[in-house]
Amino acid sequence: MNQLAELWNRVLEEIQPEVSTISFDAWIKPIRPVEMTETTIRLSVPDGINQEVIQTKFRSMLESCIKLAAGRAYEMEVVCGNPEQRKADKNADPIRNQNPLNPKYSFENFVVGNKNNLAYAAALAVAEVPSSTHNNPLFIYGGSGLGKTHLLHAIGNYFLKNYPDKRVLYTTSEKFTYELVTAIREKTNQEFRNRHRNVDILLMDDVQFLATKELAQEELFHTFNTLYEAGKQIVLTSDRLPSETPHLADRLKTRFQMGLLADIQPPDYETRLAILRAKIEEEYFTFDEEIVEYMANNIKTNVRDLEGAVKRILAYAGIERTNTISMGLAQKALKEILHTLPQRDITIKVIIDEVEKYFRLPGGSLIAKRKSNDIVYPRHIAMYIAREVLDESYPRIGEEFNRDHTTVMTAVKKIRENLSGDTELSAIIRDLVENINKN
Ligand code: ADP
Ligand code: MG
Repeated sequence: MNQLAELWNRVLEEIQPEVSTISFDAWIKPIRPVEMTETTIRLSVPDGINQEVIQTKFRSMLESCIKLAAGRAYEMEVVCGNPEQRKADKNADPIRNQNPLNPKYSFENFVVGNKNNLAYAAALAVAEVPSSTHNNPLFIYGGSGLGKTHLLHAIGNYFLKNYPDKRVLYTTSEKFTYELVTAIREKTNQEFRNRHRNVDILLMDDVQFLATKELAQEELFHTFNTLYEAGKQIVLTSDRLPSETPHLADRLKTRFQMGLLADIQPPDYETRLAILRAKIEEEYFTFDEEIVEYMANNIKTNVRDLEGAVKRILAYAGIERTNTISMGLAQKALKEILHTLPQRDITIKVIIDEVEKYFRLPGGSLIAKRKSNDIVYPRHIAMYIAREVLDESYPRIGEEFNRDHTTVMTAVKKIRENLSGDTELSAIIRDLVENINKN
C-alpha cells in the first residue's frame, strides 16, 4: 500500500467514531485520496452534493483528523468527479470483499413478520441444531431485498458464537463459479475443494445465478453430496424455487428440494412499520409516527428500499443541518425515489395488458368474444391472477372480461388444479406477477 492510502486508512479510523454510520457511509466512504504534496492532500468525491457536504459540514473535522493521523497539518482540497471512480469502485468490490461473515447481520436485528417468519424460524433452527435431516438443505427463496443474505450471515454468526472452533463458509454462486474457474486455471482444484468441503455449514447465496454455469453446477453437485453425506449443513438462497429455475440441472433441483423450502414475501404494512422503527432507532433518531406511516404507506417493495428511504432522509437532514425530521423534509427526500418505485395501482386492466404482452397477443384479445383456442389458456391465467393477486370478486372479473362469473370460477379452478405439479405454469405466473408489479 502506498503512503497516501496508508495515511487515509488512519484518517478513516479517526473519523469513524466522530460521525454516525449513516453519515460515514453516505459522505466519508466515497472519498478517495488522490494526491499528496508537501503541503496539500487532494481528495476526490463522486459528485457535487458530496463535495458540498464535505466542504460545509465535514471540512474542519476532516482537517483535524488528517492532522491527528499524519502528525502535522495539511491543506485539504476536495475535487469533484473523477469519472472513473465510480466504475473502479464497483469493479474493485468483489475482489476486496472476501465475503467473510458480516457481523452486522444477526437474528436479533431481523424484524419478524408474517411474511418472513417461516424463513426466520428455519434459519434459527439450523443455526441452533445444524444438519437435522429434515432441515438439510435449507433453501430460502424470495425477491430481492427481503433479507435472504441477512439470514445467511445471521446463521453463520450465531453458530460460530456457540461453536467458535467450527467452520462456516459463506459464498455466493458467482464467487463459487469465479473461484472454480481460477482454481482450474491455476491448478489449485484440490485447495478449492478442501475449502468448500471441509466445513460444518456451507452458506451459498443467490444460487439462481448458477443457472447457466454447467461447470459450477457439476462442482456444486459433488460439494453438496460430500457435505450431505458427512452430515454437514447446507443453506442456499435464491430468488425463486429450484423447480422454477431454468437451466438448473435436475439432479441439483432434486437435491435442493430435499430438505426444507422456506419463502420470504414482501413485508405487510405492520411489518413495514416495525422495520422502519427499528432502522430509525439503529441510527439513534426518532421520526414522528406520521412520517413513519407515510413511509410505510408509500414504500411497499422490500426492506432494502425501506432502509434506503431512512438513510436518504437522514442524509438530507445532514445537508440541511438539522436534527429534526419534518414531514416536508421526508417528502422532499423521498420524492425522487418514490417515482422509481412501483406505485401504480394494479387493476384488472393492467393484468389483462400484461398477459397479452407476455403471450404476444394483440391488445384486446382476452376480452374479445371470440373463442379461439390459443387465447383460452392466457385468458384463464389472467382471470386466475386477477382473483389471486387482486382478490377481486368473480362477477367483477367477469365484467372486465365480458364473461359470466361462472366462467371465471371454472377458469380459476382449472388453473389452480393445473398449478400443482406444473412447474412451467407456476414459472409463467410468477414471471407475470413480477411484470405486473414492476409496471
Ligand atoms: P436479499 O439478500 O434478500 O436481497 P438482504 O438480506 O441483502 O436481502 O436485505 C437487504 C437489507 O434489508 C439488508 O440491509 C438487511 O439487513 C435488511 N433487512 C432485510 N430483511 C430485514 C428484516 N426482516 N429486518 C431487518 N432488516 C432486514
Ligand atoms: Mg442477497
